[in-house]
Amino acid sequence: MEDGYELYRSMELWSDELRLHGYADAVELHSGVPVPIEHKRTGRHDADRQQLCAQALCLEEMYEASVDHGYLVDRTRHRRVRVSFDGKLRARTLQTIAELHAMLAEAVLPPPATDARCRNCSLIHSCLPQLTTGTKR
Ligand code: SF4
Repeated sequence: MEDGYELYRSMELWSDELRLHGYADAVELHSGVPVPIEHKRTGRHDADRQQLCAQALCLEEMYEASVDHGYLVDRTRHRRVRVSFDGKLRARTLQTIAELHAMLAEAVLPPPATDARCRNCSLIHSCLPQLTTGTKR
């Protein structure tokens, strides 16, 4: 128990409705209302906001509660950035989830990004994007 709220680290999340499963870095529980927290190197990408929003969608189903905001923790600047789960962000997130399920149904991986996103990606050592695209051998 922190200052007036419960803190859960590495919390398992899921949504049967959206067919999602994963983990949040942390979830704060304020009077029964969950607030997702995700640590990022910068937290400035829309993909980060969508990931946080997807966590909120899971938490809404799990807790039968409305989750209207969460926080991205910018590890570079050591600050918390509030993210509001407004209609536009929810729509983009649901669109990405739909595209993800379509991709999984086709069992075809998209081509690797091989751009600036790879520098901060935790998967770079298993993905090896420059090898799989043939830009560097
Ligand atoms: S390292 Fe692979 S998974 Fe990560 S951003 Fe680049 S292409 Fe995508």
